Amino acid sequence: MLRRQFLRVAGGASAAALGGCAAQGVAPSTTAPFDDTAMLRSGPVTFESTTVLHPVRARPNRVFKVTVCTRPFRAAGPRIEAERVRDKLVVHNYGHGGSGWSLSWGSAALAVRLALTDGARDVAVIGCGALGLTAAVTAQRAGARVTIYAKEFPPDVRSSSATGVWSPDSRFALAANMTPALEQRWAAMCRTSYAVHQSYLGVAGTPVEWIDRYVLSDAAAAAPQETPSGAPDFAAGLLRLTPELRRLAWEELEPGTHPFPVPRVRRDMGLVFNVASLTRTLLGEFAAAGGHQVRQEFRTPADLARLRQKVIIDCTGYGARALWRDESVVPVRGQLAWLLPQPEARYCLYYRDVGMVSRSDGIILQHDSEAMGFNDASTEPDPSEVAYCVQSIADLMARMQRG
Ligand SMILES: Cc1cc2nc3c(=O)[nH]c(=O)nc-3n(C[C@H](O)[C@H](O)[C@H](O)COP(=O)(O)OP(=O)(O)OC[C@H]3O[C@@H](n4cnc5c(N)ncnc54)[C@H](O)[C@@H]3O)c2cc1C
Repeated sequence: MLRRQFLRVAGGASAAALGGCAAQGVAPSTTAPFDDTAMLRSGPVTFESTTVLHPVRARPNRVFKVTVCTRPFRAAGPRIEAERVRDKLVVHNYGHGGSGWSLSWGSAALAVRLALTDGARDVAVIGCGALGLTAAVTAQRAGARVTIYAKEFPPDVRSSSATGVWSPDSRFALAANMTPALEQRWAAMCRTSYAVHQSYLGVAGTPVEWIDRYVLSDAAAAAPQETPSGAPDFAAGLLRLTPELRRLAWEELEPGTHPFPVPRVRRDMGLVFNVASLTRTLLGEFAAAGGHQVRQEFRTPADLARLRQKVIIDCTGYGARALWRDESVVPVRGQLAWLLPQPEARYCLYYRDVGMVSRSDGIILQHDSEAMGFNDASTEPDPSEVAYCVQSIADLMARMQRG
């Protein structure tokens, strides 16, 4: 149907253009400047659209893996600051909660600036997750020679188990800690990250892409957002600080223009990070710029003395809790159930606390609300959570197909 409408509109426009040439009996010139005044006079072309979506096959036997990991949350927001440890300058860059991939480039920019202030050109990065990789590449781009030291490398790092969506405001800090200075820092990180992520669009392997996202609601009108009972009071509404990034605003979809069996549907486009591909792209860039990787665990800060570099960027994520005895890093457990990929069904949706993100390497289902997983470091998969997610999406798809 969409195709028919498009052909009708496009066909009409091109027929008019051809007619103009024919009436004047002039062959189109290849050298004459393009004249779009007629097109501008006719105004914008509008047409109704109906969203066509392929159903997701949500069945237990299509779940090919379940991953569980912890977000490194700090009530005061990520720790990005320099500290002297004996003869080393250590720049901490950890504690990014549920927004580590999203804010990674902006955080790297701040950390690398602190690391290179004294003109250092030989830098050690500890950690090879989202924060370590982006800090390493950023330091190389600033002219430094970089070695990454880490206990684990991708895909065995926690960052590899992220959902992979642009979520710069997710579990960033507690509301009570959001000072104007922290808000400014968040907004700066958000802007830098957003810009750098754009530079990975269209790159081989599609490490970053835009995807349609639908938020489904059983209530016909917008209801005030309430913090679920038992949930920590995470900072909310941060996106208001970067209004220029909200150009792709939500649109309310009129009933009849979408296939969802609920009274309210909103849509926008979101950035999705295909984490496996993004990680490989970054590792490739790092190696191409002469970077080295060394597998090494640091059990105490004194172990840093073994490094030849005088400047260290510490991107140990949840590992910082043990290494620095920093109990401000709190685990927030998150579990993902992975359905077999469906290239024809590439969209995201959120309904009744279940999120679905269709990536090229699998369709991720997640039971997610602010109240879940706080201060829970367990990494045992919970089969009941998997069953709940699969059943919720299966029910929704069945209702969609019934119409
Ligand atoms: C379920 C889930 C979904 C998520 N979804 C998203 C999302 O959609 N978008 C988003 O932006 N964020 C998301 N996040 C958050 C994001 O994944 C984290 O903020 C991010 O991965 C943290 O990265 P990191 O590099 O700090 O830590 P890690 O990935 O844990 O990397 C730490 C590195 O440090 C090394 N290390 C640690 N301790 C030591 C030591 N003592 N010695 C040597 N090496 C050490 C480790 O081996 C590893 O290489 C999600 C998180 C979870 C759990």
